[in-house]
Amino acid sequence: MGIDNKKVVIGAIASTVVIVLASVVAITLQGSNNNNSTSSDVTLPTSENVSRDQLLQDANKGKRLKIMTTFYPLYEFAKAVVGDRADVDLLIPSGLEPHDWEPSARDLERLKDYQILIYNSAIFEPYIDKVKGLGYDLKMVEAASGMVLDQDPHVWLDPILAKEQVRIIRDAIASMDSDEGNSRYYDENARAYTARLDELHVKFEEGLRDCGRREFITLHSAYNYLVSRYGLKQITITGIEPEHDIPAGKIREIVDLAKRHGIDVVYAEEGIDDRLVRALAEEINAKVLTLSPIEVLDEEDLEEGKTYIAKMEENLENLRLGLGCR
Ligand SMILES: [Zn+2]
Repeated sequence: MGIDNKKVVIGAIASTVVIVLASVVAITLQGSNNNNSTSSDVTLPTSENVSRDQLLQDANKGKRLKIMTTFYPLYEFAKAVVGDRADVDLLIPSGLEPHDWEPSARDLERLKDYQILIYNSAIFEPYIDKVKGLGYDLKMVEAASGMVLDQDPHVWLDPILAKEQVRIIRDAIASMDSDEGNSRYYDENARAYTARLDELHVKFEEGLRDCGRREFITLHSAYNYLVSRYGLKQITITGIEPEHDIPAGKIREIVDLAKRHGIDVVYAEEGIDDRLVRALAEEINAKVLTLSPIEVLDEEDLEEGKTYIAKMEENLENLRLGLGCR
């Protein structure tokens, strides 16, 4: 269990108005998760001629695979691939913002029961190095492998890169499951889910084709891949992480840009204090809408059956409103 205090104090000056924002203190009490069962450790034979994955695969023969994913979209992608033939769990407790989440000793212990750990990239989940150092028989799968540019981990927000993530996840899971029937099943599932991502991509392309402007203001720099896919431009308040400090003069700059482009919407994101966004919106006479980086799905979202695809569709609707699309 850990208590994490994050404090962001922002003093922002816009025109003659001084916007002073109170400190944002996010206290997250991270509940310990249930899983305490100890797995019987498999002793693997060693041979230089046999790959480690092969050994793991043989040891798991006939067993139901247990797959751990770090944060929500990867959980959904892995679930979509395995259907009901393997177990998929989420490492970061739902509702917690993953950017600066760290696993507790208990979370690390929990990984002993799993054969596969799917994460996005070492820049999004820097604790992966720690997990590697534990020496568990755990296949580590980097779902953003080969996609990350400029230290930006948010590849899942581009449906085309999300498809690539699904492919990486499917290949990794299939390589660990020696049951050929399962392999075919994973392949069919991945194909069906990928078709839905293709539909999502077409909706974005069509929905963002004819708009009043291409620029939008959002809190953290999560949309580089999305904007380059659909020819948009994000103007961000903070950096790659939502709780970075705001550079002096930044707010003034955003106010000027907003006026120049006639922007009348500012995007907030769920799970992050929205006072800064509201103050900025008031300054430029704009509405506040939500744009989700789909990093946090809380219990309520999950109960309502919210999915990555549903959240992306909501994002598209809100982008269309903010960009004045027809
Ligand atoms: Zn982010």
